[in-house]
Amino acid sequence: MTAQTPEDPKNAVVRTIDHLQSGLAAMSDFIFDHPETGLQEVEACALLCDFLASNGFQVERGYAGLPTAFRAVHRVGAGGPRIGLLCEYDALAGLGHACAHHLQGPCIIGAALAIKDQVGDRPCTLEVIGTPAEETVGGKVSMLEHGAFKDLDVALMMHGNDVTQVDLRSLALSEFLVTFHGTSAHAAMAPEDGRSALDALMLVFSGLAFLRGHVRDDTRIHGIIEQGGQAINAIPDHAVARIELRSYDRPYLDRVIERVQRILEGAALMTDTRFTLEKTTEFHSKIPVRRLNDLVMANAERAGAKAIEPPRERTGSTDFANVMYYVPGTCINLPFVDKGISAHSQGYLDRGKSPQAHQAIALGANILAMTVLDLLRDPALLDAVKAEFRQEKARLLGSVAG
Ligand SMILES: [Zn+2]
Repeated sequence: MTAQTPEDPKNAVVRTIDHLQSGLAAMSDFIFDHPETGLQEVEACALLCDFLASNGFQVERGYAGLPTAFRAVHRVGAGGPRIGLLCEYDALAGLGHACAHHLQGPCIIGAALAIKDQVGDRPCTLEVIGTPAEETVGGKVSMLEHGAFKDLDVALMMHGNDVTQVDLRSLALSEFLVTFHGTSAHAAMAPEDGRSALDALMLVFSGLAFLRGHVRDDTRIHGIIEQGGQAINAIPDHAVARIELRSYDRPYLDRVIERVQRILEGAALMTDTRFTLEKTTEFHSKIPVRRLNDLVMANAERAGAKAIEPPRERTGSTDFANVMYYVPGTCINLPFVDKGISAHSQGYLDRGKSPQAHQAIALGANILAMTVLDLLRDPALLDAVKAEFRQEKARLLGSVAG
């Protein structure tokens, strides 16, 4: 090796993150010890913003309509790719950081600082974006409505997990609040005058049970009754349920929703009641970009990730999918708990501040930084990622519903 041989930027990334590691771990431990639920993440947001500001990022505290969202930007030159590194920091009510969102901010900050050190004068914009309330309202959805994310070329995330993997897909989801209105009457003395809103809901749940037998395998239909009456001796004139519908195929899911609508109409007709339907949440399905997944996994190997597995067969739903509806993106899941331990469990809490959790932060920072450097170094690779994204999106949205 001669004196002129430049250092491999990926080795420099590893060195930078080694240097940062204890500070990132301390930040993560602080967020773990101060759990804040969706839209209340004041301390986590301030901690991450302060650190980014003191490291030369231009920080907007409160972003895209949410006070506990933020954006921290590092711009080099004019034009060039716009890379988004997203993080969550909300805890679960009563449970604390049982989904390990406390790892995410420190992880992408490590990545962002390592990238910043290595981009040189190559024009690009790096955006670190804090996204509140993933567990509750899905903060990314309203942030999108305020114009966030859509001008990114790529969006990347990290999440704690039991193995190393990326997802190929996530379930599109629509959640509805259903309210039936009937007529109250004394249940013993004048039942003929009453029209039961609860009867209507029970017919709805029967209808949903029958519908479940005639939908595609990946369709998920679940619901809860939130209000079913106040007094045993009064016909309930008011009943409320939440119904959630999911499928990997959004056009198909929209067809299922039309069938649910007819079940509601049928129940109202049978019980002489009426209903209102309010859509409360809508997530897209993830648009898979294999080339981006492969790049992230190649860097996971390079960075020494353990327990590497193929993409999950069964996945849930996420507000990140709504971002990945507009922008190619992926999330690297990294192990810090033993295999088989699921999110939202005591197992996640027990390992929240463990050496394994701290390793996942550093490993994720390395993987994301290396991935971004690959994309910045090779414009053809970024173009290929974007082209695959457009093709997959057209294919998924054009799918024929059965
Ligand atoms: Zn989570």
